[in-house]
Amino acid sequence: MDKKTALEALSAEIRACRRCPLGQTRLQAVPGVGFPDARVVFVGEGPGYQEDRKGEPFVGPAGQLLDKILASIGLSRQTVYIANVVKCHPMKDPSNPDLRGNDRPPLPEEAAACMPFLQRQLAVISPEIIVALGASALRALAPQVAGLTKVRGTWMSYSLPDGKTFKLLPTYHPAALLRNPNWKKDVWTDMKALRQELGLRENS
Ligand code: SF4
Repeated sequence: MDKKTALEALSAEIRACRRCPLGQTRLQAVPGVGFPDARVVFVGEGPGYQEDRKGEPFVGPAGQLLDKILASIGLSRQTVYIANVVKCHPMKDPSNPDLRGNDRPPLPEEAAACMPFLQRQLAVISPEIIVALGASALRALAPQVAGLTKVRGTWMSYSLPDGKTFKLLPTYHPAALLRNPNWKKDVWTDMKALRQELGLRENS
């Protein structure tokens, strides 16, 4: 089975999943988007209110900022893959899906239930590099390390249960940058390191 077909099958499985309580209340699961043969996979925390409605990751203001970050080093949604640790949005009040304000980090049990999907996506795509966007993604991919601010921009590694290992680069989540614009220079530093690791030209 080719990578595109394998990812589509996995996405269908995710859309039907009810493995954890988030699956009971979400409007749409958000499997992920991007290039099946991507060299880089960007991993965020989980779908927010807008992603829950569209079924796509990073579609709000944070998503627009992620697009700019990608473009700054010559990447795009068409050349990378974007997914989250958990695939379903935590609904604030299932009886009123239009209530906002519950974009919380996943609970440990939610992340544990959903991580096998991300691991299977990584196994299919087999990227060179994973970029962990924010503390929740880092916690899921490198639970042994200190907080994000201590290790941001540090090259690490992530191994699948079968031992396949990828380079891992933690940086801030775009939503955090919207709240703390002074962190943008750190993310720019990290993106330059990513560009260099990928061997991309400065104006590519
Ligand atoms: S968050 Fe993940 S494990 Fe939980 S229901 Fe959604 S797809 Fe399934």
